[in-house]
Amino acid sequence: MSEPRKLYVKSFGCQMNVYDSRRMADTLAPQGYVEIAAADDADLVILNTCHIREKAAEKVYSELGRVRRLKEAAAADGRRVIVAVAGCVAQAEGEEIIRRAPAVDLVFGPQSYHRLPELLARAARAGKAVDTEFPIDDKFDHLAAPTWEATRARGVCAFVTVQEGCDRFCTFCVVPYTRGAEMSRPAAKIIAEIEHLAAAGVREITLIGQNVNAYHGAGPDGRPWSLARLLHRVAEIDRIARLRYTTSHPGDMGDELIAAHRDLPALMPQLHLPVQSGSDRILAAMNRRHTRADYLDIVRRLRAARSDLALTSDFIVGFPGETESDFAATLDLVEQVGFAGAFSFKYSPRPGTPGAEMADQVDEAAKAERLQRLQAAIDRASAAFNRRCLHRTLDVLFERAGRHGGQLVGRSPYLQPVQVAAPAALIGEIVPVTISEIASNSLFGTLAANAARDMARHVERPFVGAGA
Ligand code: SAM
Ligand code: SF4
Repeated sequence: MSEPRKLYVKSFGCQMNVYDSRRMADTLAPQGYVEIAAADDADLVILNTCHIREKAAEKVYSELGRVRRLKEAAAADGRRVIVAVAGCVAQAEGEEIIRRAPAVDLVFGPQSYHRLPELLARAARAGKAVDTEFPIDDKFDHLAAPTWEATRARGVCAFVTVQEGCDRFCTFCVVPYTRGAEMSRPAAKIIAEIEHLAAAGVREITLIGQNVNAYHGAGPDGRPWSLARLLHRVAEIDRIARLRYTTSHPGDMGDELIAAHRDLPALMPQLHLPVQSGSDRILAAMNRRHTRADYLDIVRRLRAARSDLALTSDFIVGFPGETESDFAATLDLVEQVGFAGAFSFKYSPRPGTPGAEMADQVDEAAKAERLQRLQAAIDRASAAFNRRCLHRTLDVLFERAGRHGGQLVGRSPYLQPVQVAAPAALIGEIVPVTISEIASNSLFGTLAANAARDMARHVERPFVGAGA
């Protein structure tokens, strides 16, 4: 029997890339590739890249410097290492990557990774291969499903891509160019994938997409299903106890989806709903096609449906033309909404997007200073949200062993990490935990009295993931 080949995949950027990286590893498993955790003795290194901000793209080139040295060291030992660049930088830069980093053998975009075995064979024959086409065939139809063992090793929470690409063309964003037009997977295929995950012990599913709430995949009757309808159907799958979805655009937050937050107990009271700015002038320049008032109205309707909803968001500071008073409107929105947390970024002009061509680019020093003020406001809001959880009893889904012996890490319904002294047998279980302490945004808790009693009766070892 031939030796297994070692595969190292490094993901940059969003959860969609993490999902894609796993599907690449699944596709290469039948070719004899086993995934390893470090690049050092890999035969194939794949960097699955992100192009959303300049910094993210530059990280790839610095990582390629490290990989080149590994490749040279392996060659000195008579071993060939294949280096591949996948994802959105690959899509945006194509052959340019090989010109800039000649150690790279293979470049392929997010729509081509089902062709990986064939591309590798091509790179082995011809030395180099580049594939940044948007093929008409659906890559999801050709990707191998993960093995039962691989699924179990990845833990009790899983991401499932249901939608890809975007037609909204926000003026700062590269996604419509790198991921292409919006495409929704048929509901039956998503359901089959989740049933497979559930059978291997997965308890929580996050449906993901660049604009996930625009989901409109074909239902089993051939008619389009909304995300709300899909969520209701996924909630019926045995053993799936928790559902989430990300990332959503406010413009696609319809009544049916808002009602699902009221009607579907499995749908966790947590939502990531990027707003980007609190200023109508900037929202219009960003082509967001919603106003500050629209956003606040959605928040009001969501909270009417689910009063304890934990809302998180994304913000961009220093978009072209942003004045101090536009920025003050953003700070004011943060105060008004009371976010449980948020990501905030300095605007990064991306080649080929309208924002990069706009006059009135904001200088870096102003962006940095605004970012600091915004982050301080977000930290205050997030600390206030966490404080409200102190001494409450929350259901925690235990995911993995903690850093200290005898400790497990899980997530509250609001997606907060919670650390608890508890036995590994509880991984995969949802257990009431009383929050006893909050330190630097981490929650600590103790098993609630009834959980401790049930645990004493717990004989089975239900799920032990890789981290256990
Ligand atoms: N689809 C989501 C939405 O409608 O907001 C966003 C997806 S994007 C992958 C994730 C986040 O990256 C965005 O919400 C935005 O805050 C940030 N982002 C995107 N392009 C950016 C840019 N050019 N500069 C800075 N941040 C950017
Ligand atoms: Fe990018 Fe999201 Fe706007 Fe689509 S909706 S263009 S993914 S920011």
